[in-house]
Amino acid sequence: MAQTSQNKKDLAQARTKTNFDITDMTNYLYGGAANVEQRRYIIDLIAREPIFNKDDWPWLNHTDAVKRGIAMSTRLAEIKMEHELNDLDFATMVEAIDDTLPILLHNGAFIPVINSQGSDEQIEKWIPLAEKYQIIGCYAQTELGHGSNLSQLETTATFVQETDEWEINSTTFTAAKWWIGGLGAICTHAVVQAKLIIAGKDYGAHVFVVPIRSLDNHKPFPGIQVGDIGPKAYGGFNKMENGFARFNKYRIPRENMLMRFSKVSREGVYTKPPHAKLSYGSMVLLRSVLIRQMALYLSRATTISTRYLTVRRQFNNPTKRNDADINPGLETQVINYPMVQNRLFPMIAQSYALFAAGTVMMEMYIGLMTGLSSGNIDTLAEVHATSSALKSYCTTIAAAGAEECRKLMGGHGYSYFTGLAHMFASIVPSNTYEGDNYVLTQQMARYLLKEVKTARTTPNKVTPYSKYVLLALNKDEFTHARCSVTKAEDWLSPDVQLAVFEHRCARLATELSDDVDAAGGMEATTWSDHNIECYRISHAHAQYVMVLWFIQSIRDARNPETEEEHRASPEAIAILERLSNLHALHTIQTNLADFTEDAYFNPAQCQSLRAQVKALVASIADQAVGLVDAFDHPDFLLASALGASDGDAYQRLWDKAQTEPLNRREVCDGYEEYIRPLLKKHGELKL
Ligand SMILES: Cc1cc2nc3c(=O)[nH]c(=O)nc-3n(C[C@H](O)[C@H](O)[C@H](O)COP(=O)(O)OP(=O)(O)OC[C@H]3O[C@@H](n4cnc5c(N)ncnc54)[C@H](O)[C@@H]3O)c2cc1C
Repeated sequence: MAQTSQNKKDLAQARTKTNFDITDMTNYLYGGAANVEQRRYIIDLIAREPIFNKDDWPWLNHTDAVKRGIAMSTRLAEIKMEHELNDLDFATMVEAIDDTLPILLHNGAFIPVINSQGSDEQIEKWIPLAEKYQIIGCYAQTELGHGSNLSQLETTATFVQETDEWEINSTTFTAAKWWIGGLGAICTHAVVQAKLIIAGKDYGAHVFVVPIRSLDNHKPFPGIQVGDIGPKAYGGFNKMENGFARFNKYRIPRENMLMRFSKVSREGVYTKPPHAKLSYGSMVLLRSVLIRQMALYLSRATTISTRYLTVRRQFNNPTKRNDADINPGLETQVINYPMVQNRLFPMIAQSYALFAAGTVMMEMYIGLMTGLSSGNIDTLAEVHATSSALKSYCTTIAAAGAEECRKLMGGHGYSYFTGLAHMFASIVPSNTYEGDNYVLTQQMARYLLKEVKTARTTPNKVTPYSKYVLLALNKDEFTHARCSVTKAEDWLSPDVQLAVFEHRCARLATELSDDVDAAGGMEATTWSDHNIECYRISHAHAQYVMVLWFIQSIRDARNPETEEEHRASPEAIAILERLSNLHALHTIQTNLADFTEDAYFNPAQCQSLRAQVKALVASIADQAVGLVDAFDHPDFLLASALGASDGDAYQRLWDKAQTEPLNRREVCDGYEEYIRPLLKKHGELKL
């Protein structure tokens, strides 16, 4: 088939233009050749297992999908144990499986919460059982009536001193736990957030390990009503049995309350944690993991889009970007249209920036946990706020990016077989879970408001990533500060870019601080009036650190003193610098009003910025296929007819359509029942 071979030829030809070593770039992204090799090994491990085959996924209903999800979960657990895989390898297995399975919250939340909030004895008791999957856990916080507002959860855990137990109770209908991944069918235990009550006094939400189902026959224990909440939006999460549970004065032993920080004695004496936010560690972990996941998702979406748009041809536009010299008479590859490039290439750059952000965020988390283990809480507030801001921003851009990649692919983009539909359905709730993206931004805003105050009182105590608040200390000088760019090339200086982002953050944080103070402070009833500004400064901060971390990671990769696995060749560095520039400048361009409303940018600067973004986009064109190849997503993972590595998009799309069960019959079901009676209603017709 001539058309098909042209598809392949087009992608192969695009690859020949790559002017950097793809292996080198892949190593940079994953932190060295050993990591790349291990990731490939794990993905291959999953790809070889028939239970993880994705071919019939589009036709599974929720009930069948959950059953499959359970089968996949148990195999996943077995593989983890057989190969003694660590957390990173487990995360790669989950990446390779590419679906949300009932068991994920066991490793993703149940174990981390016990590890971070359990006492040593509790860890010793529960973790070995959990690691051997002798118990399966989930994380039950959200209720029918409340999610974001933890303080208003209605499930209670009341201390019964006579029997040394907690009585877990869903005090109202709206106290039912809801949305809990793993609760619907698979879990035997849950860590449950419930209000701790002793002698009528409410001590707020605490965490309890609650047995849900019998370890003998998996039946729910008396006193617990538990089930699945039903199918979810866009057909997403359909292998996951997000569940509900209602507790009717259900008893558990006192020692099932996780007591690393808060404690309750046999006598019912409550000891509060030494620091209110000590229990945040597990949340920071989940959010940090999400940043990395977003890098993987957006890089997959851009891989699929870039490859398909390279082989897709529409119109015969006589432009210098055409390949008429090698392919005379063919239409223009749609990836050559500046409008397509302008939509797609900044997302490739964003994916690279997300990889860098994921790495730094994870390092910050590890640093935090190391500190906490020796009682040092110095970085807790900063890491918590940063992970909140980044979770909100990164999940927002990744979900929007996946959808943009679908639109970029035109009509075929809407086919399930792009591999994007399933991904979008999986990625989009990340904007809501682990903290709603709008609510979460208040964490970073609150943190920055404190930093503004610290800057005014003890400037040397401001933490490194919010040092920009110092810029606005001298109000008069700051009001008159102007961007230093005088010619288009100035935009390419990382220092200029960082100064621009710092100025914006400093202004937004200071303005918010002044507004909040004028309205009575953070604890005043007017706090919610500042929601919009909180979102704005939080995303501005996230953009700033993402730009900064990407720049830093390239500087490290270029530095001869950096460990070898984190270095990259000069050719790779050159294209990375272009990506970093594109990422920074495109982010500025997308938020231009923030940089102009205080006259920091002048009109000429806005124009030269746009010109520079356009030039950078065009400069990526020949490297786009190589850049997405470097993400190293194998065909099994992409599961995409349009984005497979050989470029054979039309043939694969055709082949996939032939697997549609409807096509097994020449005459469709429903003909005799519905179509024939309609056609024959007015008698036989001979044409
Ligand atoms: C796929 C999926 C899986 C999940 N898995 C789990 C799980 O395993 N365990 C678990 O415990 N939970 C789980 N959840 C629940 C999830 O964590 C919550 O739904 C999430 O935290 C949002 O809370 P909410 O539903 O109360 O939203 P709400 O807070 O009710 O949000 C509704 C709207 O109000 C806005 N809003 C709320 N408060 C404010 C405010 N103060 N200022 C401004 N705007 C505000 C929000 O932005 C949103 O637009 C899951 C949810 C989903 C979708």
